[in-house]
Amino acid sequence: MAKKEELECSFCKRKKEETNLLIAGVDSHICDKCIEQAHGIVMEESISEKKSTGSDFLVKKPREIKDFLDQYIIGQNQAKKVMSVAVYNHYKRLLQKPNSKDDDIEIEKSNIVLVGETGTGKTLIARTIAKMLDVPFAIVDATVLTEAGYVGEDVETILTRLLQAADYKVDKAEKGIVFIDEIDKIARKSDNPSITRDVSGEGVQQALLKLLEGTIVNVPPKGGRKHPDQKFVEVDTKNILFIAGGAFSGIDKVISKRLNMQAVGYSASMSDDKIDEENLLQYIIPSDLKTFGLIPEIIGRLPALTFMRPLDKKTLRSILTVPKNAIIKQYTRLFEMDGITFEIDDKALDFIVDKAVEYKLGARGLRSLCEEILTDAMFDMPGAEETSLKVTLKYAKDKLTKTTIKKLKAVS
Ligand code: ADP
Repeated sequence: MAKKEELECSFCKRKKEETNLLIAGVDSHICDKCIEQAHGIVMEESISEKKSTGSDFLVKKPREIKDFLDQYIIGQNQAKKVMSVAVYNHYKRLLQKPNSKDDDIEIEKSNIVLVGETGTGKTLIARTIAKMLDVPFAIVDATVLTEAGYVGEDVETILTRLLQAADYKVDKAEKGIVFIDEIDKIARKSDNPSITRDVSGEGVQQALLKLLEGTIVNVPPKGGRKHPDQKFVEVDTKNILFIAGGAFSGIDKVISKRLNMQAVGYSASMSDDKIDEENLLQYIIPSDLKTFGLIPEIIGRLPALTFMRPLDKKTLRSILTVPKNAIIKQYTRLFEMDGITFEIDDKALDFIVDKAVEYKLGARGLRSLCEEILTDAMFDMPGAEETSLKVTLKYAKDKLTKTTIKKLKAVS
């Protein structure tokens, strides 16, 4: 009788008794010690690869970035294009190895300004980009920021939010994205800055400058005002991408005035190009922001400038059903979780859009309108016998009385 073959690790030749675990493959074995060692090698390799590319985030090409944005944001093609390029260049800049070439070319940051009415998707674009890159994302409202020494928040608290979003991991936060909303509200109120000290305006812009450009900031990790006993975390803003958004209401007049002046100046060539008076924002240039009251230094640190178009009926209608996490898809999922099939017909959807336009509720209003129409069903149906809901025009009209719309208008 042949001697029973003794089992051993095919890698280190340890006998079975000498191991804690011996795992069998097709015609070989591996012991726990070799598995651990191999795992260590794999991990080390992947870390050194990350180091050599300098990245622990995914870098996508501008077209891929735009394709991703297209899944979540309807229309706004120009803005998506400008954003895709700016984000791509920003991350290319991060990957540039120091002193890789001796030509002193330093790629500057491509912070972005998005100009467009409220509810046109500015926050959504910024948020979607952060989601795609899998980096921490924070939204801050410029209106609460004040110069140090005034009531309000210091600009450093912007970074507190980002640190929180990064679970207090400084290296992650340092590659994050910050969306500064309502940047237009810190515009200089008057053309003559010397009249009075402008609490909310120019001083804050000055304070923001360094942050946008790249500097090391002492950040109070829990936020609030700086005080002597507080511990600070040092955050380098060099690689943080800042996206500023604002409605800049009235800037269309600035643009129109400039365009008309140009038209007079170069009468023949300009008047040939027909100006789309309905959407003047598409002609925005950095100097318009200056006329509006942003200081030139801030504008210089926000080099990518783009605009959002107002949402028309067609866009609003698509927003309801098309994006990857469209409002109607979300309700379908919510009902599905209770075993309820949910359908809404086209006429009811058109009705919701009409009401959002009629009462100037914008894209945000779409959700509130759906909520009003569906609340009764979402309350009554779970656990009840009825397992399907079809929302028709009549159903929607019945649920959306004049008073409910007035209520929505009051809160919007
Ligand atoms: P803003 O920051 O410009 O005020 P938001 O990004 O907060 O606007 O948009 C409000 C909501 O409107 C978003 O959560 C989104 O559901 C919807 N929305 C606005 N514009 C679009 C768009 N172009 N595509 C898809 N959804 C949009």
